[in-house]
Amino acid sequence: MRAVAERTSERAAPYYRATGHEESVFLAAHSARLPVLLKGPTGCGKSRFVEAMAAKLDRDLVTVACNDETSAADLLGRWLVRGGDTVWQDGPVTRAVREGAILYLDEVAEAREDVIVVLHPLTDHRRALYVDRHAEELEAPPSFQLVASFNPGYRRGPKELKPSTRQRFVGIDFTYPEPPIEAEVVATEAQVELAVAKRLVVLARKIRALSELGLAETVSTRLLVGAARLIAGGIAPRVACAHAIVAPLTDDPEARGALQDLADLVF
Ligand code: ADP
Repeated sequence: MRAVAERTSERAAPYYRATGHEESVFLAAHSARLPVLLKGPTGCGKSRFVEAMAAKLDRDLVTVACNDETSAADLLGRWLVRGGDTVWQDGPVTRAVREGAILYLDEVAEAREDVIVVLHPLTDHRRALYVDRHAEELEAPPSFQLVASFNPGYRRGPKELKPSTRQRFVGIDFTYPEPPIEAEVVATEAQVELAVAKRLVVLARKIRALSELGLAETVSTRLLVGAARLIAGGIAPRVACAHAIVAPLTDDPEARGALQDLADLVF
């Protein structure tokens, strides 16, 4: 299996702080049986949002982390030899359609073209999945919801979603939340004092304003939560920033120095 699939059926709603109309748009798209594309940088709450929506709708969540080796067979299923028999094993997409779950294809643009082709009939009025190898055509039940995520700023190769694919989805934009909300998220997630969370957000704003460092991606809410957790665990704030913010962002000594200077200034 070259795609990592996970299944979550635990119903306890995770903490998710809404930042706009994303919840009502998602629920309306679900009622209208439209697939949803979450667009935004890494670590800004897309996966958490899907988990929260799955809990709200009381649905199982099947998550697939797509990568450039993810093939249609990985997602649909394959024949396996067990003992003397060949048995069919559903892949995560087939299982999610069969069971009427929420299917979350994380970083869908990373998947191979044959995957996108297989998804097309699922994203239009047919809501159908053709599992050729198993000679099966599945119609998605009303409870099924396709959600995909896409990071427009992430450029590792010529990875873009084609307009013909994008236009099949209702798009919801994600970005780092406004400072008071981001501080609230960091404080709640890491169980640190709000004052500490606010400082981390001040640092994040400074780093995000820097374009000259040539970072592949800038500091995410996830990194702030990580730094806050180290601080909550007794690590001095500057050291926490060095390990949880500066080191994950870059290996370049000059950029590291500049980022650490900012952290030292804020704390
Ligand atoms: P993405 O899927 O966009 O890469 P995640 O959903 O995994 O990012 O978010 C990373 C972390 O940031 C989460 O585990 C959570 O701690 C925190 N987070 C970001 N945004 C929110 C939010 N709006 N509400 C709650 N937690 C959030």
